[in-house]
Amino acid sequence: MLEDLKDHVCRLNQDLLTHGLVAGTSGNVSARDPETNLLVIKPSGVAFDQLTPDDMSVVDLHGNVVEGPHKPSVDTASHAYVYRHRNDIHGVVHTHSPFATSFALRGEAIPVLTTTHACLFGAEIPITGYAVIGEEEIGQEIMAHVGDGTSVLMRSHGVFTIGTDAARALRSALYTEECAEAAHLALTRGPVEPLAADVVAAARAWYLSDYGQAPVGSGS
Ligand SMILES: [Zn+2]
Repeated sequence: MLEDLKDHVCRLNQDLLTHGLVAGTSGNVSARDPETNLLVIKPSGVAFDQLTPDDMSVVDLHGNVVEGPHKPSVDTASHAYVYRHRNDIHGVVHTHSPFATSFALRGEAIPVLTTTHACLFGAEIPITGYAVIGEEEIGQEIMAHVGDGTSVLMRSHGVFTIGTDAARALRSALYTEECAEAAHLALTRGPVEPLAADVVAAARAWYLSDYGQAPVGSGS
């Protein structure tokens, strides 16, 4: 079932490795099928370079396994929580990408220092409270902090991004890491003034109206 979506989600999971956002088996991509409301998610503990579409787990909106040879990701309950609470969201991505995670470990939001950050996210990337792994708590923290954005830093853990589809959620994860890396490198050499709120708002408005074909950070 959902063969096309399993193929797509498998490829996006492998893209996490290609882009250097994950190592080993940590991190995951899921997508929601808009017709059945079933989720396709990476199985737990299978290396990204070994993944095939048939390895993907299909689960319902409460995380119950519908199809798949493996146990689904340990983050499945939290992905399902997000999908249950946001009908517009059809993709969730989780990484431990190092620069963004370093902000999460320090309990710091990523400030808006670059035009890329202003355009793509339009606000600082927020930091959540600490959440235990394995149940819905991570999903609750995502929903408590993501607002109308697409990316959060999970305290002491890593990055969770959401999107109207899984490819957009993946691009948010990529740009979260790019913004975190630039911010980190600049901040190591001294204080950096964040962009003023009106400058951020103007950059964001320009991006949403004029840039490219399909804004990644629109959240809609
Ligand atoms: Zn994790």
